[in-house]
Amino acid sequence: AKEAGRSNYQFFAQTMNAAAAERLLLESSLRQAIDRNQLLLHYQPLVNIADGRIVATEALVRWNHPELGLISPARFIPIAEDSGVIIPLGDWVLRRACYQLKQWREQGIPLQRMVVNLSPRQFRQKHLVQTFTQVLKETGVDPHWLGLEVTESVIMENPEEAIGILCELKALGIELSLDDFGTGYSSLSYLKRFPIDKLKIDQSFVRDITTDPDDEGMVAAIIVMAHQLSIRVVAEGVETEAQLAFLRGQGCDEYQGYYFSRPLPADELDTTSVAAC
Ligand code: C2E
Ligand code: CA
Ligand code: CA
Ligand code: CA
Repeated sequence: AKEAGRSNYQFFAQTMNAAAAERLLLESSLRQAIDRNQLLLHYQPLVNIADGRIVATEALVRWNHPELGLISPARFIPIAEDSGVIIPLGDWVLRRACYQLKQWREQGIPLQRMVVNLSPRQFRQKHLVQTFTQVLKETGVDPHWLGLEVTESVIMENPEEAIGILCELKALGIELSLDDFGTGYSSLSYLKRFPIDKLKIDQSFVRDITTDPDDEGMVAAIIVMAHQLSIRVVAEGVETEAQLAFLRGQGCDEYQGYYFSRPLPADELDTTSVAAC
């Protein structure tokens, strides 16, 4: 038993070391990734359920690592967040996404809005509002064309302060969405105090809406509650016609998911059904 315990420990230590080593390696190369042009954005449409038109695209970052290939944000965003690299990375994403929106519009594609994700650390940075105002000015993007997605955790850490910052962003004309709704802690009581325009139902609830009565009821209730508070509802991770039909029946406003389109590079995105402004 002692032997087993010992080798367990060794195994644990080795995996820990491997994980820690990988982390360190990724962290140091992530710092250079921006300057070396290894980051890219894919875009996924948000679609109005009533008329099937694209009302926005969400920018999702990817890292094309010279040795490791394409790395998913699920792997490097947490590292970027812990190490602080998320600040320059987030600035890069915002600027790149704004330039893309501007370019689409100049090509006659009347995309209404570009949406970017904002991590907790980005949200807490000093001068967040000034940084955003600066990038919008620099790229010639009207604040009404920009949307931001934050998670419940971003807000719940310090609700009073968060509400203040959200109000400032909203006053600029930026659209605010609460991402991954349902996965965090009960922010239900706060919901009516947050100046948010949209709520995105997490894909973990959407996955089983056509098979699990609990999830079905949950999603239906979220939609009713949000509408009562004049908040629009977006369903994430819609993969089938049956899921879409259910959401339509419940009066969900918008959806996003592989059923319509995967996140794609700008030049591969089918923009024929972009809604007119
Ligand atoms: P998220 O913001 O919740 O984005 C949705 C994720 O679900 C994306 O994963 C997207 O590709 C995936 N997805 C979309 N439709 C479907 C579907 O129908 N089925 C399934 N199974 N998945 C679907 P992705 O691109 O790997 O991003 C993962 C997460 O990384 C994002 O979750 C977001 O939290 C974070 N992230 C991505 N880009 C950025 C960024 O620029 N900044 C920050 N702070 N976070 C980012
Ligand atoms: Ca998101
Ligand atoms: Ca989400
Ligand atoms: Ca998510």
